[in-house]
Amino acid sequence: MGIQSLKKQLERQDKKYLWHPFTQMREWAEETPIIITEGHGSFLKDISGRWYLDGVSSVWVTVHGHRKKEIDDAIKEQIDKISHSTLLGLTHPPAIKLAEKLIKLAQKLEVRSEKLKTPNSKLQTLNSLNKVFYSDNGSTAVEIALKMAFQYWQHRGIKSKKSFLSLNNAYHGDTIGAVSVGGINIFHKIFSPLLFKTYKAPSPYCYRCELGKKYPSCNMFCLNAMGKIMQKHHKEIVGLIIEPIVQGAGGMIVSPPGYLKGVRKLCSKYNILMIADEVATGFGRTGKMFACEHEKVSPDILCLAKGITGGYLPLAATITTERIYNVFLGRYRDLKTFFHGHTYTGNQLACAAAIANLEIFKKENTLKKLQKKIEFLKKGLSKTAEFSHVGDVRQKGFMIGIELVKDKKTKESYSLKEKMGWKVCYKAREKGLIIRPLGNVIVLMPPLSISQQELRRLIQITAEAIREATEH
Ligand SMILES: *Cc1c(COP(=O)(O)O)cnc(C)c1O
Repeated sequence: MGIQSLKKQLERQDKKYLWHPFTQMREWAEETPIIITEGHGSFLKDISGRWYLDGVSSVWVTVHGHRKKEIDDAIKEQIDKISHSTLLGLTHPPAIKLAEKLIKLAQKLEVRSEKLKTPNSKLQTLNSLNKVFYSDNGSTAVEIALKMAFQYWQHRGIKSKKSFLSLNNAYHGDTIGAVSVGGINIFHKIFSPLLFKTYKAPSPYCYRCELGKKYPSCNMFCLNAMGKIMQKHHKEIVGLIIEPIVQGAGGMIVSPPGYLKGVRKLCSKYNILMIADEVATGFGRTGKMFACEHEKVSPDILCLAKGITGGYLPLAATITTERIYNVFLGRYRDLKTFFHGHTYTGNQLACAAAIANLEIFKKENTLKKLQKKIEFLKKGLSKTAEFSHVGDVRQKGFMIGIELVKDKKTKESYSLKEKMGWKVCYKAREKGLIIRPLGNVIVLMPPLSISQQELRRLIQITAEAIREATEH
């Protein structure tokens, strides 16, 4: 079969058998889909042999590029031993070795955080992030964090703590618990009758402040508002869940400096567990290994997924403190066990990929090399910010959101009907760049391994696509 007829056949079969995520399938039916067959470095190749720059790291996961030799080899080597055995009642080397590496990284957060300022070393150990609970995606990492936090207070006999505090514009995944703590109306509102009770704090979205304030004269009034909720309801609140520094799917909303630290202080003050969802921000995305490092914050529970395997395989980790872990200890008959587990939890191939991923960070000095690229991106995007239909450009490291507006002065948004975000992304595709918008926000999230030359191309195509879609 020739390539053209194979392509046509796959297209037909896709439309006949597949239901794509976050996709209006009626519109999909009219599209000519890009069928990806290969990848290399920062690029994806389609079935016709055309190469595209992967501008969103295959939805926020690729770290060191596609077909990275060390990760390929680690998986192949593991396949020759075993691909999967369970962590329920058994254990295996890749899960153990990776857990140690993750804990060492997580504990760097503490060394830099307030916690160690307390002279009591026993207290330090208790507050130390030192237990890894595996699962297989970001949503499950979050579900585990929520259930763990709830059960912690139940075991401690504090039965009134039954609800959570989360943020407007938050995204923590698509399962029902994760949706309960979500705050994106267009995705989440329809499910509201199914969701558990959650208090909502304002989003630190300075460009469109929901409290009508202006940064910095506001003195981060949104923190005050959060504090008020805590003061009033702390007896009911199990924990606060937050995407540290950047609210990703909500539109790449970067919180102002000091905000996250303020949140940590409030949680400690009101005896509320702090859950940091670093599913998107973790593994170098914001320029540091974890976003919490920017403000020297150490959470009580840390959720990791997306980049953990370098973007190769599904794996997640929920990491918690000795203090929380200890409360679950007892005899079997005490029923203090954390009764939770997913079939592919801690899969061997995925753990092997994750170990290789972390070793590359060290060997290649990935984070150090990234800093120059972050600056280069910032400079390149400063011109884009001046376009007449670009309202705001937000960047933290390699997480970028370019918010398009119909009217720059009034900040009027494009309506859903106009699909301006998508129009820009389709233009970019024609020019050889794959990106995906979040409503009116154009997202750029290149692999950390991208070269300066490729970055230049990313910036240039994005700028052209925005101009052509918004100005013609
Ligand atoms: C993507 C994401 C999730 C969900 O991860 P999945 O693997 O898609 O379930 C959770 N939290 C944040 C912050 C995310 O960006």
